[in-house]
Amino acid sequence: LNILFLSQIEPPERWLPGLRAALPADRFFTLDAYDPAQIDIALVACPKPGILGALPRLQLVQSMFMGVDPLLADARFPRTVMLARLIDTGMVNAMGETAIAHILDWHRHHYAYRQDKLARRWNRLGQHLPSDRMIGILGMGELGTSVSQRLLALGFGVCGWSRRPRQVPGVQGFHGDAGLQALLAQSDALVCLLPLTAQTRGVMNAANLARMKPGGCIINLARGAHAVVPDVLAALDSGRLAHAYLDVFEVEPLPQDSPLWAHPGVTITPHAAAITEPRTAIQRIAANIELFRAGKPLPNLVDFGAGY
Ligand code: NAP
Repeated sequence: LNILFLSQIEPPERWLPGLRAALPADRFFTLDAYDPAQIDIALVACPKPGILGALPRLQLVQSMFMGVDPLLADARFPRTVMLARLIDTGMVNAMGETAIAHILDWHRHHYAYRQDKLARRWNRLGQHLPSDRMIGILGMGELGTSVSQRLLALGFGVCGWSRRPRQVPGVQGFHGDAGLQALLAQSDALVCLLPLTAQTRGVMNAANLARMKPGGCIINLARGAHAVVPDVLAALDSGRLAHAYLDVFEVEPLPQDSPLWAHPGVTITPHAAAITEPRTAIQRIAANIELFRAGKPLPNLVDFGAGY
């Protein structure tokens, strides 16, 4: 198979030695030298818009990221070609660590103690048990399900929201619009792990934040457009929300003049919740390509109709 490595941000030298070792029978090309007419598979991470449509023999696009919304936003993306998401254990574990770090920061009041330290204020806050807290997870896919199991292991209550009904052990499941309202009404904290689609854009808005239990937090680890920033800031200023942990933003890097930078109620991380990890991802990519070579069905293909 002829495989084109297409990325404007991932350096080929970080990936190609491992890929060549894992798939010794295949030929890898980069943008420096390739024949568009010969490419069977494209490995992509933020490719130049339009480039995939110019590969006539292309049969499989393998994303090097878990989220594919930027690919689907390209009107010239060839929708007759299979698009496989990357499900990478290294990334799934990293996301679990990030979600737990933020939940514990909020649960143990560390976000407040950081402010107290700046003010030289000794102010011990009340203790909650994890079982006092209900964590609502928006998006119960690969990432949301994994995070739910880590939270349950720590003793937190967990409820989850998906598009279709979904049973996950220990998690109270909700789906659809009515399900979202029911989940919000009992959630102290929200962890957003949704794909960005027309239906999920702006889900953390004033009306939905107002339905959460007061004094909680939101943790957006999915896409910036899931949170309506003025609504989040208003909920923080009114005390409705105690803290917002934001990893993703509509414009990245977050512009210098964003009010989020200076707000004491906001923790910012630079889209670093879970970073693609070649050491674990290459095995998964190679396994997918072997399934493709054998003509077997591939897991984690994107449903173009659903948008994820
Ligand atoms: P996934 O396996 O496709 O799961 C998506 C979940 O969201 C599913 O449970 C799905 O419901 C649910 N969902 C989709 N549309 C919905 C709707 N309209 N209403 C309610 N639920 C809806 O995705 P994943 O692998 O967990 O990844 C989730 C997202 O995380 C990615 O799309 C990406 O944007 C983001 N991400 C961020 C980082 C970072 O570093 N910050 C890293 C990796 C990924 P069903 O179960 O019914 O399908």
